[in-house]
Amino acid sequence: MIPARWAFRLRPRPEELLSSYLCRVAFAHGSQPYRFHRLYWPRMELWTRDIDRGVPLAVLAAACKTSGLSLPEVTDLTLAPEQAALVKNASIPGVTPFVLSLGIYHRARQHHGQQFCPDCLAEGSGFIKRWRLAFVFGCERHRRVLLDACPHCGAPPAPHRNLIPRLEACERCHGLLSAPAETAAQPSASAWALQRLLLSAAGVRASEARQDVDAYPQGSAATYRSLFSAVGDPRIHARLRASLGLPGLPEGSLERRRLEHRRVEQRALLIETVAAWLSNWPEAFRVGAQESRMTQRVFARLHLDGVVAAEIARLPSGQQRTRVTRSARPAAAWQRRKREKLEAYRERRARALLKSLT
Ligand SMILES: [Zn+2]
Ligand SMILES: [Zn+2]
Repeated sequence: MIPARWAFRLRPRPEELLSSYLCRVAFAHGSQPYRFHRLYWPRMELWTRDIDRGVPLAVLAAACKTSGLSLPEVTDLTLAPEQAALVKNASIPGVTPFVLSLGIYHRARQHHGQQFCPDCLAEGSGFIKRWRLAFVFGCERHRRVLLDACPHCGAPPAPHRNLIPRLEACERCHGLLSAPAETAAQPSASAWALQRLLLSAAGVRASEARQDVDAYPQGSAATYRSLFSAVGDPRIHARLRASLGLPGLPEGSLERRRLEHRRVEQRALLIETVAAWLSNWPEAFRVGAQESRMTQRVFARLHLDGVVAAEIARLPSGQQRTRVTRSARPAAAWQRRKREKLEAYRERRARALLKSLT
């Protein structure tokens, strides 16, 4: 008989994700996550969905029962509080704003939406919540750019599939994700500051971000996301970086994708560009918008508020595409001639066509 509670009721690590916690619990019992949790919760599909992003109440209730944690404690392992703080009433088809996509297919992960800091993992942090947020590109504590793939084989981390009972192991090659790895080129100080600002908007580490709040124009997180979307156009991005004196974009970064679907190197560049564009407000913003030839049309259908919305309203409106449609069907007069006398119709029509070509 299966006991009502787990034998080893672990405490979550600070800021740990639900998926990471459930994996650690299974490993502590010497089992594989999907086998272990199927034993306790046979009717619940845990690993074919993104349980950190959105989890049914039944899973939360079951987790409370077996772990001994309270409902607020379990809810706090998910990204629900951050989502609520960042974007209110947003409906963007196919994405959860600011939450990186895992691209779950059966139990596999096809997107690189689970970032990690190898140094934090080596210290036993588990996978933490901020690593799933799309504006987070680096670990402030270890001053390094995060990884979003195994440094040995390039697979996205999926610890729930690990045959080795270790959270830091790669499911595909069994190498350690926590192995020392070179850090990518450091984004600018203003990019780090923008990351701190948005983390504070998400309700994470608010006290440390206070110093950065005044450095950027007031606006909601949704407005900042709109700026990332607009700059995500490869031509605008390249022109804007040139106008701001930033290094050019490397090969392969000229892709048009949603923020939540981009890999970490691309997002780091995007955040660096937006951070530079917003510093020295509003002068750099005006020059950047003008030199990258932005118009209001770039922001059509994007949410804007505060002083950013007022600045965008000053941009040229942009050309409206006007389409003149000519009927492809012959006019009614032609149809009448066709009915009356087919031979004459063909001849006259051919002549009319030839005339229109010359
Ligand atoms: Zn770290
Ligand atoms: Zn690997």
